[in-house]
Amino acid sequence: MIVPFVDLQAQYKSIKDEIDSAIATVISETAFIGGKHVNDFERRFAELYEVKHCISCANGTDSLYIVMKMLGIGTGDEVITPANTWISASETISQTGATPVFVDIDPSYHTLDESLLTNKITSRTRAIIPVHLHGQMCEMDTILGMASKYNIAVIEDCAQSHFSAYKGKRAGIMGIAGSFSFYPSKNLGAYGDAGCIITNDDALAEQCKRFARHGALVKHLHTIEGINSRMDGLQAAILSAKLPYILQWTEKRQANAQYYNKILSSIPQITIPLVRPETNHTYHLYILRAERRDELAEFLKLKGIETSVHYPIPLPFLEAYKYLGHQPGDFPVSHRYSLQILSLPMYPELTEEMMDFVCAAIRAFYS
Ligand SMILES: *Cc1c(COP(=O)(O)O)cnc(C)c1O
Repeated sequence: MIVPFVDLQAQYKSIKDEIDSAIATVISETAFIGGKHVNDFERRFAELYEVKHCISCANGTDSLYIVMKMLGIGTGDEVITPANTWISASETISQTGATPVFVDIDPSYHTLDESLLTNKITSRTRAIIPVHLHGQMCEMDTILGMASKYNIAVIEDCAQSHFSAYKGKRAGIMGIAGSFSFYPSKNLGAYGDAGCIITNDDALAEQCKRFARHGALVKHLHTIEGINSRMDGLQAAILSAKLPYILQWTEKRQANAQYYNKILSSIPQITIPLVRPETNHTYHLYILRAERRDELAEFLKLKGIETSVHYPIPLPFLEAYKYLGHQPGDFPVSHRYSLQILSLPMYPELTEEMMDFVCAAIRAFYS
């Protein structure tokens, strides 16, 4: 049996007619940039989140950049973000001219450790970007409390947490803005790059929209210089076709995680992912901590099971951040876990048979 890490084919086959007809419609209307399909998706996504504004853009990375620029973050400022995540938050912090300030992750839930924030906040801190990593929520009450105490913006990176929730509130609606990626393998994925920003702040929404459209809300009336960050009509139509399924796909991911948990919790060399209490974890990724991780991954590969590591090198230790001069001891949890974490195949279309095969192989490796 072959168990791929992700299987975008399986999902496409399950809704082929809807996708094919969405694509054909956009092409027959030549509605490639902006227009009806993009407006429709923005409206439907905002409705699902019960949020006033959804501003589509070219990808998730841009959505972070756009929000920070429109909050006036720039040279001399600092923005706090976790040491273990994808590079988008820190690279866009740098692109605004600000400095990324990394915080270690917490040992239980692998998200930004809110108890370390006090030591990281300075008079220059302008924002915190909590990343709801793997679909797991950050401890938002503490983060929002700190942010309001020090008058700092919270921008939620929801690229891995579509429809995750904290105490009944969805990821993306608790900070000043939520940033989303629709990269193909994300829980809600386009067939190319796409992203969006959600916010209840009218002024920020208008500014973000203007900045992402060359600084003009009305064609040729450029009130500022902006960037070109637009969602394609094709991507919008594909995302709209997928929207009716997202909640059931999310439930399937959660059921799959329970299935893995039930079997893997009896293997002492493995730590299954914990879920923060009072939250809804949506399992963009299913991440174990495993003894002899690299050997296990190699063993699984030989059996036909693809795994991955998210992420093998904590951001502060990458070449790109060498100038910050960090040592492993500055981020002990991120450092230790980078040698233990292993992402198993996780998608709605995964079958029990496939998961049994994966779990049996892990058991075989340790016995
Ligand atoms: C995927 C991802 C992004 C960026 O998304 P793109 O659409 O690829 O630009 C940002 N943050 C996190 C945590 C991600 O996983």
